[in-house]
Amino acid sequence: MEATPQPIARSEAPLQLLLFVDKRPSSNERIRQIRACLKELASDDTYELQVVDVSEQPHLAEHFKLVATPSLIKIHPEPRQILAGSNLIAQLENWWSRWQRSIEDRQTTPQTVPLTEKGTPVEIKSIAHSAEVIRLADEIFRFQREKEELQAQLQFKDHLIAMLAHDLRNPLTAVSIALETLEQLSQPPKEGNELRLNPNLTAQLLRHARNQTKAIDRMITDILQAARDKSAEFRIQPEQLDLEKLCLEVIDRLHDQFAAKFQKITTDIPSDLPSVYADPERVRQVIVNLLDNAIKYTPEHGAIEVSILHRTTQKVQVSICDNGPGIPHDNQTRIFEDSFRLKRDEAKEGYGIGLALCKRVVQAHYGQIWVDSELNHGSCFHFTLPVYRPSPSA
Ligand code: ADP
Repeated sequence: MEATPQPIARSEAPLQLLLFVDKRPSSNERIRQIRACLKELASDDTYELQVVDVSEQPHLAEHFKLVATPSLIKIHPEPRQILAGSNLIAQLENWWSRWQRSIEDRQTTPQTVPLTEKGTPVEIKSIAHSAEVIRLADEIFRFQREKEELQAQLQFKDHLIAMLAHDLRNPLTAVSIALETLEQLSQPPKEGNELRLNPNLTAQLLRHARNQTKAIDRMITDILQAARDKSAEFRIQPEQLDLEKLCLEVIDRLHDQFAAKFQKITTDIPSDLPSVYADPERVRQVIVNLLDNAIKYTPEHGAIEVSILHRTTQKVQVSICDNGPGIPHDNQTRIFEDSFRLKRDEAKEGYGIGLALCKRVVQAHYGQIWVDSELNHGSCFHFTLPVYRPSPSA
């Protein structure tokens, strides 16, 4: 961790100097020489010298645009002046009389200090003032970055609300149709409509409504779980993302691995695929993990395909399929758990965490991930991501 910078002392001496040094052993000698030179040139109350180690206060070095150490900077009175190089003492002696004159001029002529819009003086009057200005500038920069991050998160939440409203509508509509049908059929039959409620039909409609409410409940649990995981483990930084480009980049990077096992890789990506709203690095991780697995578990000369589908207006689905050994039905959920590996694969390299990580990443994007597989007939891993929608203000 960076060393905590020492606060720079406040001083009102007429001449304010800042000496930047680094951690070289020769620095101490330089500091000593400059102090001795100043002692000879002036009395102590005429100037203030502060020594700054650039490695401890890099923001100060950046602020003064330093390119070398040691550097001696006259920061007050204005204009600022930087002396650098091996002959600092000679330069200091050379400039000293002119600096003295400028101080005397300032004392005899009234000074006009430029003001900011709010009426505060903009001139940097002391080392302490200068350090404060820099610190505030850093703070403003940090707040701006945080604001942008929060705005991106808010935008992400807007997307989600649209997506969830859309997803929840289907089962809700199904429930309300089932209830309306029950209600209508329990009325006396109208002419031309002979359909009557019987115990079988009632049970069927109720079962249907119950299943749909369970689906709604599952979706809400997933959302709450994802929100918890997201805040606990992941800070995703979603942005407009071109999935096709990303998939092709990953495939290209894994070219040697496909070639080593003589595996054929194909893609099926529609040309009008919309962008998604996702964290590029995290999504790259998911695609790499799934392709790594496909390569690892599929025998030589196998076939692997990456396909993308614009599944609903709100979601894009990525599928990575292979014709490898497949995954038994009983384990198709468990493979997404931490450290779970199929017994048959324990001899293969791996820790059983790749798919668990994929699940966390996808859930942090409020997407789903699952596998369709038949033993000895290959596996298809699918995951969904939200479609990118520009915010109305953009
Ligand atoms: P790892 O590959 O390091 O074991 P993963 O979490 O990526 O960990 O996968 C968990 C388990 O799921 C693997 O050990 C393997 O048994 C099974 N698996 C994953 N991908 C495939 C695949 N494409 N084909 C067959 N089995 C797979």
